[in-house]
Amino acid sequence: MKLGLLGEKLSHSLSPKIHQMALSALGIAGSYELIEVARENLPEFMHTLKGGTFDGINVTIPYKKAVMPYLDDLSEGAKRIGAVNTILREDSRLIGYNTDYDGFGALLDANVVPASGENFTVLGAGGAAHGVLAYLSDHGAKSITLVSRSPKKAEDDFLGLTANTRMTVVGYDGLNLTDRVLVNTTPVGMHPNADVSPIPSDALLGCKAVVDLIYNPSKTKLMLDAESLGVPAANGLYMLVAQAIKAEEIWQSRSIDVCLTRSIHRRISGEQQNLVIIGMPGSGKTTVGRMLAERLKMEYFDMDAYIEQEHGSISDLFEKSEAHFREIESETAKLAARKSNTVICTGGGVVKRADNMKHLAKTGCIFFLDRPVERIFSDVDETSRPLLQKDKTALFRLYDERIELYKAYAHCIIANDKDAETAANRILEKWQGER
Ligand code: NAP
Repeated sequence: MKLGLLGEKLSHSLSPKIHQMALSALGIAGSYELIEVARENLPEFMHTLKGGTFDGINVTIPYKKAVMPYLDDLSEGAKRIGAVNTILREDSRLIGYNTDYDGFGALLDANVVPASGENFTVLGAGGAAHGVLAYLSDHGAKSITLVSRSPKKAEDDFLGLTANTRMTVVGYDGLNLTDRVLVNTTPVGMHPNADVSPIPSDALLGCKAVVDLIYNPSKTKLMLDAESLGVPAANGLYMLVAQAIKAEEIWQSRSIDVCLTRSIHRRISGEQQNLVIIGMPGSGKTTVGRMLAERLKMEYFDMDAYIEQEHGSISDLFEKSEAHFREIESETAKLAARKSNTVICTGGGVVKRADNMKHLAKTGCIFFLDRPVERIFSDVDETSRPLLQKDKTALFRLYDERIELYKAYAHCIIANDKDAETAANRILEKWQGER
């Protein structure tokens, strides 16, 4: 499969590295080239593209709009956003998509910043802001303030894009970030001009979180200013990887686990993440978790073992009051999430509280170890799990209650239908993004 990135100047692009990692993880033979094309040569390039030079391409500055007249069809999203960053060639038909929209959503998810119900302020009314505003409006943002150096022009450009959300357009003198999530879509602070920020640091007082689409440097001045005031801040690298994986999904016509995005992001950013295992009691989390910690030379943390060490037997705690046990478990989940480079094994009920999963997902990739309930049932006599031995039908009830929660919180679902070694290998493959 021949893929590439179309732009004018591309020397520092990370895209070839990301796509090569994705292709190799997916076991697809292919190449991803940088395609530098001067403006006057764009028509000719688009003509050759139709003729079959590439199977698919990404498009970047300054051609995200300029390629549109050459396309045979546009996805609904690309039409609405008015820009294309991914082209699929089907025979001689070219179809345009916008995966920045999905990439931005994935960036919010990875940082556990919900769009729904939040108030957002977006700096800059350029190309990237279109995808950002469309995503926020589609996903229930309570209000959006768009900040532009030319508010009147921006108001016209963004007309109708945020139909579901109240949007206000202001100049920089109208900035008020109290209780709002700030998204920077301007290039201010980008390498090599990294010592500037689009706004003064004191404007960040009271801000809830900062999301900067810039990924070079990995901490922009805006992010550093935010963190010095205790405001959490994230850069745009995860978005870059997620939009690339979404493009691969379009080109390969298949869906791809979130854990590949996380794996590539972890390897490129060099960030030390945790490997979190969730699943039913008796599904093999401890055995598989220990194997993985040893092979990956990571720390190992077993939430239930920690709780027993600090608070006594779980059966006793449970018998006194489940609510009390769940409180202890939540505190332990917070503690676990503060670790890094650690394999974390969770108790079966950790998914019962959304906040537990929020904390764990922020610093870790979550694997659901899915052992068929009949196998857990047949294994159970060999284990010393008093709760399960007492009432085996309770196991089936528990499985029915929790299965959808495990699936919903997992970045990756791993079948544990053979032995622990096989399950550990399956997780390892996903974690390392290798086949
Ligand atoms: P763009 O179309 O050039 O728009 C950026 C907007 O920022 C401009 O329209 C302008 O809005 C504002 N701006 C530009 N220069 C400014 C300055 N000196 N001071 C204040 N505001 C300024 O660029 P883009 O394609 O939207 O990209 C913007 C940034 O997002 C870049 O840093 C890009 O690398 C990043 N990005 C990242 C990803 C990712 O995957 N992480 C994806 C797309 C873009 P006003 O005129 O309205 O003020």
